[in-house]
Amino acid sequence: MGETKKDFMMKRSLNKGTFINASNYKSRWFVLDREFLRYFDGTFDKQGKQKGVIELRKIKAVENVEDHVLDRKTNVFQVVHAAQKSSDILTLYIVAQSDDQRQDWVTYLRKAAEYADAHFIPKYHKGVWMSGSYTCCNQISKNAIGCEVTSTEKEFGGVTVSSSLPPVPSIPAPAPEPTPRKVVVAVYDFTPTEEEDLQLIQGEEYEILDDSREHWWRAKDKNGKSGYIPSNYVKKKFDLEMFDWYYKSCTRERSEAILREEQREGCFLVRESSAPGMFTLSLFTTENDGQVRHYHIKKNEKGSYYIAEKYAFPSISELVHYHKHNSAGLATRLKSPPTRSGATAPATAGFSSSKFEIDPAEITIGDQLGAGCFGTVHEGKWRGKRVAVKMMKESAMSDDGFIEEAKTMTQLNHNNLVQLYGIVTKKKPLIIVTELMQYGSLLSYLRRHKARLLSKTATLLDMCSQVCNGMAYLEKRRFIHRDLAARNCLVGQSTVVKVADFGLARYVIDDEYTSSTGTKFPVKWAPPEVLSYTRFSSKSDVWAYGVLMWEIFTGGVMPYDKMKNVEVVDYVCHSKLRLEKPGACPEKIYKVMLQCWQHVLQL
Ligand code: ADP
Ligand code: MG
Repeated sequence: MGETKKDFMMKRSLNKGTFINASNYKSRWFVLDREFLRYFDGTFDKQGKQKGVIELRKIKAVENVEDHVLDRKTNVFQVVHAAQKSSDILTLYIVAQSDDQRQDWVTYLRKAAEYADAHFIPKYHKGVWMSGSYTCCNQISKNAIGCEVTSTEKEFGGVTVSSSLPPVPSIPAPAPEPTPRKVVVAVYDFTPTEEEDLQLIQGEEYEILDDSREHWWRAKDKNGKSGYIPSNYVKKKFDLEMFDWYYKSCTRERSEAILREEQREGCFLVRESSAPGMFTLSLFTTENDGQVRHYHIKKNEKGSYYIAEKYAFPSISELVHYHKHNSAGLATRLKSPPTRSGATAPATAGFSSSKFEIDPAEITIGDQLGAGCFGTVHEGKWRGKRVAVKMMKESAMSDDGFIEEAKTMTQLNHNNLVQLYGIVTKKKPLIIVTELMQYGSLLSYLRRHKARLLSKTATLLDMCSQVCNGMAYLEKRRFIHRDLAARNCLVGQSTVVKVADFGLARYVIDDEYTSSTGTKFPVKWAPPEVLSYTRFSSKSDVWAYGVLMWEIFTGGVMPYDKMKNVEVVDYVCHSKLRLEKPGACPEKIYKVMLQCWQHVLQL
């Protein structure tokens, strides 16, 4: 019994009907092992008969329940899981005896589910389902998407980062068990630039020796060679994510952009649908001048996946395999996923696991891409890899502070942030080497494509949501941007949008830029407390984000048109007026902008 965790707690009866009035609780023995959570009747000193079981692999979320909403109880937690025999999502509510016990179970269950390869959902209900609606958001469909981001999503963006189980905290102490081997599969090639790093070949397996660092793991290849690898280039073996056609949290809009880019008949990917626990197949066909079709992957009562009911399979990969050979209802046979080589591989957190200082002799500088207030940006190469090279004007930056900061900035790694690879400090000018974004600044992109873009609400909204993802990551890391605007976002392949220049504003030595009355200060993106006290926060980033949304929905118009900075301060702070709704912008989206400009900080 060394591998189990066991406690006596109460559960609310599984009341499968829509309306539950008098809730019914039962005391149960809960027993958790590596595969199942089971519960038994019996008394405190004796475990009785098994009454129910949940397969850990089917767990979708383990979260606390807000106190007092479930019949005024406290210390309640919930286990959201797929039903054994259907695609229904069920919720088990468990009442622990203390907050400690609850936290203990939540942590342990999550780890165990993660280890069993469960797919966590990004959102849940912190209230409960009661009398036909959720107490938290009043939605009246039991399957309504959650209103709160799950802890797993908040912590890891849904990515599982560790597979070792925490020690079992119950008494008697469990027998020590060998840590299971963690085997991953490379989903991209990686060519190391330093001795201590290890080459990755797409499709090959690697054993993880140490995953204690976030971005660089120590791994061993099949020949026994070991070294550091970028953790975002590998996926757990047997996980859906190891397949090159699986694009986990890709949205409908993103999938269309990616597939359109390739223009290949039968080019396809599988992604999570907006409905929790469900999947969608997105497929490009050349009919009607090229279009992307989306198919819901359904589940039958046996738990098998299908698109055409007659052809159901126990796993998604088998379903994909089948449709590679038979269109069976699809617009065309599945051929191959979008190419994942070179430019489409995500940026690594720095060029290597250890180096961050770049030798200027190894940089080749090419065409100029643009110029800003603080220097020029060139296309360049570093050991054969295409990069952007930003050369700062002499004495434009306070170097010492920045060099320290840049070290932490290389550790910020997100698909919607322009990656900082490293800097040159040994020689002047100070050079910042970043990811190269082929279509340049979002502002110029919006202006260039204005006519085409303004009628495409979904595309504009997708740009907003990409920036939002990048900013949410920064906020989670307690990192404040301070100069978010369309000019500081960049556009890459298949209209990927990434936020750039985060945090740089602090190291600029130029009063015109850093003082809120300076001519270069981003007044039009700043909330009242920044204009009055230069008080930056994640909240002031939210304000700027609202203005950025406005820039996107106007196709790159200068906010507040011809108003001078002092007039803007008056307009926003004293008259409390806001930017008007752009013509191309739906009411609902304008409401979000207004929410960003709802002034909450006391002046
Ligand atoms: P600004 O003060 O306008 O923000 P920057 O120095 O940040 O100036 O950038 C100037 C221009 O260089 C941008 O508008 C953009 O066109 C180009 N640029 C900057 N960084 C990159 C990059 N990583 N990839 C491609 N183009 C870039
Ligand atoms: Mg910039």
